[in-house]
Amino acid sequence: MRAIGLFFALALVVTSCGETVRDIGGRPSSSPSGASSTNVTPGPSASVAATASPTIAPTPTVARFDPCPSNPRCALILSQIDQLNPYRMDADLNALTSFVSRDVRHPGHAKAQAYIKEQLGGLAYHGWKIESQRTVYQGIALENIFATLNPSSGAQPASGWVLVSAHYDSVANRTPGWRPAVDPAPGADDNATGTAALLEFARALSLWRDAGNLRSRIVLAFFDGEELFFKGSGAYMATLQKPYPYKAAINIDMVGFNPITDRLDLLWYTSASAGLRDRTLKVNDTYRIGVTPLNAQFAADGTTIMDAAPFGIAGIPSIAICQRYGENDATFPGNYTFHTVNDTPDKITNKGLWLKAAKLTLATALELTDEPAQ
Ligand SMILES: [Zn+2]
Repeated sequence: MRAIGLFFALALVVTSCGETVRDIGGRPSSSPSGASSTNVTPGPSASVAATASPTIAPTPTVARFDPCPSNPRCALILSQIDQLNPYRMDADLNALTSFVSRDVRHPGHAKAQAYIKEQLGGLAYHGWKIESQRTVYQGIALENIFATLNPSSGAQPASGWVLVSAHYDSVANRTPGWRPAVDPAPGADDNATGTAALLEFARALSLWRDAGNLRSRIVLAFFDGEELFFKGSGAYMATLQKPYPYKAAINIDMVGFNPITDRLDLLWYTSASAGLRDRTLKVNDTYRIGVTPLNAQFAADGTTIMDAAPFGIAGIPSIAICQRYGENDATFPGNYTFHTVNDTPDKITNKGLWLKAAKLTLATALELTDEPAQ
């Protein structure tokens, strides 16, 4: 638990989502490679065009982009992420923000928990196991919600699990005079975007498992208390015994605001996370997800506190996909509404980026679940 102790100490000097951290310049935009997505089959032949009676030309067939022609698993993953439904994500975001606040001291917090459980409960027949972990921090009840899916084979592996997480709590303490128990904290970008993505992953993974495609245990974690300095994820990490059952942990947090470009930050933790960082960068290119730039940043100095951190600092390969609200630069104006009463659904100004973040997260997770445990 020494790593956790260090971690909590670091938390005293930083804020969540890396508020104090300076952005580092992004890498160059990825350029598409491989088959063109605009190849068109030849039109009608000249002989057809020369016939006396006019004919209607057939609609040109557009060749489907195939990122991995010799890899059927890659093609399956592509088809799965293409089915993520932005309208359902939007509906979940609107529901989560309709509870006024998801601050742990506000009545809306329990409504959000009930909503998440209701959505997951509707999928339980696909094999999901829904569990809660309850903890108390300074007299405040916290509840992490977990949805676990075992491989299609029915096996119950003791290791090689993949964790995908988002925090569902919110806060608005940058609004002067804000009262946690009664005032709004809609948390649309931070982090109804990530929470709604996780709910959509639960639907997608249900079909993935039903089709016989899931090869590892995957756990979706809806963490509480991140805005109290990752108290939910930290409490969960403290329950894990070595050797840790997880081979990777992916966190998604604040991914819908950027009105300028489709930029996201990719935080990674310790050298153990470098491989996962590289895989995520490659996934973005392979499947042409189009997060540009995907700005990898080393985060083990404790200045980028997110729910990925407890796992990463403990040595589990761990990344966070997020829009940081650090210093502004040419590709990110900064979400000026974070942690205020104004982080409302209309601030999700880049729904395309939000969907790309979801695709990047799910594709990376699916690749990881395809591989045997280390
Ligand atoms: Zn957040």
